Amino acid sequence: MRRTEDPAPTTYERFDLGRRMLPGGRIEQLERLTPTSTRLRLAGPKLVGVPWGPGDRVRIRTAAVLPSLARLRAGDALRTYSMWDADPDAGWVDVVLFDHGTPDSIGLRWADEARIGQYVVLLRDARAIRVPRDASWYLFAGEETAAAGFGALLRALPADVPVLGVHQAATDADHIELPRPLTRISRNGASAASSQQLVDAVAALDLPDAPGAAYLAGEARTIQMVRAHLVQDRGWSRREIVTKPFWTPGKRGMD
Ligand SMILES: Cc1cc2nc3c(=O)[nH]c(=O)nc-3n(C[C@H](O)[C@H](O)[C@H](O)COP(=O)(O)OP(=O)(O)OC[C@H]3O[C@@H](n4cnc5c(N)ncnc54)[C@H](O)[C@@H]3O)c2cc1C
Repeated sequence: MRRTEDPAPTTYERFDLGRRMLPGGRIEQLERLTPTSTRLRLAGPKLVGVPWGPGDRVRIRTAAVLPSLARLRAGDALRTYSMWDADPDAGWVDVVLFDHGTPDSIGLRWADEARIGQYVVLLRDARAIRVPRDASWYLFAGEETAAAGFGALLRALPADVPVLGVHQAATDADHIELPRPLTRISRNGASAASSQQLVDAVAALDLPDAPGAAYLAGEARTIQMVRAHLVQDRGWSRREIVTKPFWTPGKRGMD
């Protein structure tokens, strides 16, 4: 990611219809959290008072809307990330972008060109992910793309409510620090798609007998496999499991 100072909006930004319709902010901080994850802070007066909450989805405009429509590539215009942290009084929101390394990805190209001072248009989807608030304990499972959403949800849970789970990342160095510890596993070259490793790691957890509430996020097929394990092998009801597919091989820009 470039880090040059450039606070001036481009002509397109100044006259863009979408900019008036959606809130936006400037990139105030870019911090490399791991070799593959970067925290990005968006800040500005339009973000003052925005009541971000755990489970909120942040849709970043990664390409100009009208040119995307003209190319019949409307899907290029937005990419979806999770609120990691926010301060409504100060007017900032943090997201964490995972570099999955797939060539020609709109989100990765946008992240690579992101620079301090750049104006970013974004859309807030409040509570896109809702985890039941009254569970006696919580289970989390997912990989790098799920980590930011996990972070916000974990931070909001009462400290005396037990949390268990598995956080998978590419290597030992690729785990971001979460507010509550989860069991860490590393793929070490294996794919995150249809990941039996994640299922096995959840199966190996010593869980309480009574089901709690589970939040499974990340690659679509993997989280289906984890849910199948909970339902078929551990006797959970589907009502107790929140699943959120974030991506899957061959599909672009899931939201
Ligand atoms: C509600 C929600 C919240 C999300 N939160 C976050 C978040 O906080 N941080 C984050 O980094 N991502 C998050 N994602 C996932 C992110 O939106 C996707 O990874 C998205 O595809 C990235 O866009 P892209 O342009 O980089 O790749 P795309 O152009 O959309 O995808 C191109 C190809 O890249 C591959 N690909 C995409 N993502 C991955 C991946 N993670 N690993 C391996 N291959 C991949 C697939 O084969 C895909 O077909 C979230 C998604 C959703 C729906």
